[in-house]
Amino acid sequence: MSARLEPCVSIDFDSSALDEVVTKTKDWALMHGVCMRSRQNFSPDSINFAPFVLVPSTFPKKEFEKAIELQTLVNEMIYRIANNYEFLKTTLAITNTVDPFTAQLFKIYTTVQEEGVSQEECCGGLFRCDYMLDRDAVRQVEINTIASSFAGICTRVTRLHRFVMQELGHGDKLQQLPENNALEALCGGMLKAWEIYNQPQAVILFIVEDITYNICDQRFHEFEIRKQNPNVRVVRRSLTQLGRGGAVLDAERKLIIDGQEVAVVYFRCGYAPDQYPSADGCEWDARLMIERSKAIKCPSISYHLAGTKKVQQVLAEPGFLERIFDDAEKVAKLRDVFTGLYSLDLNEEGDRAAEMAIENPEKYVLKPQREGGGNNVYGKEVAEVLKQLKDNPERASYILMDIIQPPLLRNWMIRPSTQPMLVDTLSELGIFGVIIGNSKEILHNSMGGHMLRTKIHTANEGGVAAGLGALDSPFLV
Ligand code: ADP
Ligand code: MG
Ligand code: MG
Repeated sequence: MSARLEPCVSIDFDSSALDEVVTKTKDWALMHGVCMRSRQNFSPDSINFAPFVLVPSTFPKKEFEKAIELQTLVNEMIYRIANNYEFLKTTLAITNTVDPFTAQLFKIYTTVQEEGVSQEECCGGLFRCDYMLDRDAVRQVEINTIASSFAGICTRVTRLHRFVMQELGHGDKLQQLPENNALEALCGGMLKAWEIYNQPQAVILFIVEDITYNICDQRFHEFEIRKQNPNVRVVRRSLTQLGRGGAVLDAERKLIIDGQEVAVVYFRCGYAPDQYPSADGCEWDARLMIERSKAIKCPSISYHLAGTKKVQQVLAEPGFLERIFDDAEKVAKLRDVFTGLYSLDLNEEGDRAAEMAIENPEKYVLKPQREGGGNNVYGKEVAEVLKQLKDNPERASYILMDIIQPPLLRNWMIRPSTQPMLVDTLSELGIFGVIIGNSKEILHNSMGGHMLRTKIHTANEGGVAAGLGALDSPFLV
């Protein structure tokens, strides 16, 4: 492990003020929707504030700006992959033989490709590219291409930390907390897609879970859409509801829900196997129906597949980015944020990577083709899993990645029903991106704001919804 500096809190203040500031900030969070439903004490009628760290974490301005600037290129990269059936087919060929979930997604993709997709039909990408600092430089953790969450809440977290800074007597430093328009950007993207669909009566469909814990984040999106265009209605349905007769496809491939035509489908669910629970596969039927429809999907199945960990790993191989972009400068900029990624296919190259990780498991993270947190393997377990999978084709369902080691910062972690804890933390920066295009051209491509999540340094993962991380804001230095 590299030597680390002794962690310190990014902003000094008189700690006798702690209780008062914490209580006040919890109330601020509750009053401004920095909130989620509780998993432990679930009631549809109540919310708790979402975990947050009290003071914003320092983040190097140069690296923040680099990530912001890179986002339209990241968007374009995903767009190009998603529109390259042969690339996806080759890249995911082995994965599809050992990972039934990816294979099922791919089957829908192939079905729709074979039926023929009009070149005019658009797809929407609402991405979040995640980074961690390795020493002083940002490194890409992953790119989320489906259900990228927290754009709604994180715009309020920026305001929460402005409030805290003022309360703590640091109101002169507010310009170091960058503006954040994530919610406006993502909802603006959905409305742009709605306009392209060009049917004034049509609605935007949110695909949601049976129980939505991250309800404020989702509703902020719905309310922002209504605010930006009061004529657009949002309807919420689960894949199960749609698959059990809640939606039909008419002869013109219009997706119809309760007599209403759907212009845009926004997935906040559908990225994990347990979100397709029915034995009769009705959720898969719904996914296929949506994919076949002419509604603009955010994301289409091709964007979903372009966000798999396997694609990320293959893109990092020498020569692959060059196949996507013929511009050397673009390739260099993208490659600059990649970290070591290794195939675990059952061949010599995969064997070498597995041996390397068995020898030094702490240096790597083992990732299956899953989303939503809590699926990766760390530490000694990396070696155990790889030993178990020796000569087993299923090894190829994982990829291997270098562990990124961000600097530690000390901060107060504030959680519901828990005393504030002063802990050593590390952070993950997410940059949102919006792209809309058809197979011929990109119609819209923009950066869409940011989020920062911070976790106790001993936790492997820091998902806020998964209960391990806390919301944060970058304090640029
Ligand atoms: P998911 O799609 O499930 O969010 P991620 O690749 O983002 O999968 O991994 C989940 C979490 O694991 C990340 O948010 C981060 O905290 C941690 N993690 C993932 N990759 C690395 C890495 N290379 N180095 C350090 N931590 C990582
Ligand atoms: Mg992810
Ligand atoms: Mg992630």
